[in-house]
Amino acid sequence: MLGTKIHSSASSGEVAGVSLINESQIRIILLDIEGTTTPVDFVYQTLFPYATRMLESFLRERSQDPEIHSLVQHLRAQHDLDERDGLKPPGWLDNTEEARLRSSVAYGQWLMARDSKCTPLKSLQGKIWEQGFASRELRGEVFSDVPVAFERWRRQKRIICIYSSGSVLAQQLLFRTTTSGDLTSYVSTFFDTRVGIKTEPASYEKIAASLSRALGEFLFISDAVKEIEAAQSVGMQAILCDRASSPATAGGVIHSFGGILAD
Ligand SMILES: [Mg+2]
Repeated sequence: MLGTKIHSSASSGEVAGVSLINESQIRIILLDIEGTTTPVDFVYQTLFPYATRMLESFLRERSQDPEIHSLVQHLRAQHDLDERDGLKPPGWLDNTEEARLRSSVAYGQWLMARDSKCTPLKSLQGKIWEQGFASRELRGEVFSDVPVAFERWRRQKRIICIYSSGSVLAQQLLFRTTTSGDLTSYVSTFFDTRVGIKTEPASYEKIAASLSRALGEFLFISDAVKEIEAAQSVGMQAILCDRASSPATAGGVIHSFGGILAD
């Protein structure tokens, strides 16, 4: 029993962390990214500031690209909505190309400062990150026990999959560019919200079905209690990962992948 290995104080019925994991059944390890393989603040400390910093040069370089041109038009439409809603975004001028570019930069910066999740901004940020990863100005970040565990699980002939809210492309970029090298070869399948949201039990059933595997063969690891509960409710084994607290203070959870399916 894995539970006894990773936290000997575990007892049945313990919250979210799950005490009883049947190690021998586990063929597939399904991993969340943010807060599990990767520090939560990677997004806020690295990705968002990068997009803010690169917005103007990105738009200048790519303004003739039809995809970017269309995104700017969507930004413009969003700007009109914000103005109508009385949110007072910075003004938008369209009289010259330079004016439009400056307006889109100012408005984009304004949206990012408000941590806006509007679709054209998210798309634009995604494009900027894609370019940053491609040029290696951005590197993916994983905890140091992650590559070690990937190697171990592969040696055990277990399958590693990722399930994250970030797009599959963004997931692949992150794992391809880590300071520990390209980790994508360890990952057999990347899943994103196209299979459903992570707090929805049916999403886990779809993942198992898409790999033609029984739910009980999976071990899902995440830092979100609701995701753990959703996976467990359909019969997946699952463990809560808490990277923030010290191993001494919490029971029923893991703090690294070190003890998961140890040799
Ligand atoms: Mg997470």
